[in-house]
Amino acid sequence: MLDSTDLKFAFEDLGLTEKPVIVHASLRPFGYIKSGVDAILRALLSSFKSVMMPAFTYKTMVTPGVGPANNGITYGSEKDLNKMAQPFRLNMRVDPMIGILAETLQIRPFATRTDHPILSFTGLRADEFLITQTMAEPLAPIGALAEADGWVVLINADHSVNTSIHYAEKLAGRKQFIRWAINGDRIVECPGFPGDSSGFNAIAEYLKPDIRRVEVGAGFIQAVSLKCLFETVQEIIKKDPLALLCQRSDCDRCNAIRS
Ligand SMILES: [Zn+2]
Repeated sequence: MLDSTDLKFAFEDLGLTEKPVIVHASLRPFGYIKSGVDAILRALLSSFKSVMMPAFTYKTMVTPGVGPANNGITYGSEKDLNKMAQPFRLNMRVDPMIGILAETLQIRPFATRTDHPILSFTGLRADEFLITQTMAEPLAPIGALAEADGWVVLINADHSVNTSIHYAEKLAGRKQFIRWAINGDRIVECPGFPGDSSGFNAIAEYLKPDIRRVEVGAGFIQAVSLKCLFETVQEIIKKDPLALLCQRSDCDRCNAIRS
């Protein structure tokens, strides 16, 4: 059975104790952990300078009947989901797809959360990064983290959940999208919405020399510096403008980038 100390040693083995990090985690492969999610969070907070995570909330989103062309969306397609959409609240649960660790962080005392209605970030000792977010630049905290020599830490996770690749796609000039969300009593336009991440794992072979990896219990932790990630993503998109897109023929966003 893993406990907080095992995880702390594993994080320390990455050799990144003075670095600020953005974390993505799937906890199931660890099996039962003594003191659960809290133990992992404690280990993270005592191992890194700052900890930031996406705290995205997709249930605030609405799809209009009409809108700008080539926006990677099928307008009028989500009428039932629109009816279920909820206004963003600062204490709204993080989307289950993002994972329980981010939700546990955002409800922790002294944690900060940004107020973007879809793409909020949460963090501890990460305010200098979080405050850079605007509606026009929703992923700015990732750029600010890179400026501070930040790293991505993926716990039992591959690059298909690596949100920072979206920031690098934007740096590479890749198309961003407009989405809409309920904020208070109005619907707000949210520009700078990123593409689809399901093809991102193709980056793994290019990052091999730069990845730090530690095995822990039945799981693993891997990390890469944001600066290195950004350079690699920009390089491969420059070589192949269709790199990192998914292969699904019905993927609205990847198709919009191809067209
Ligand atoms: Zn796709």
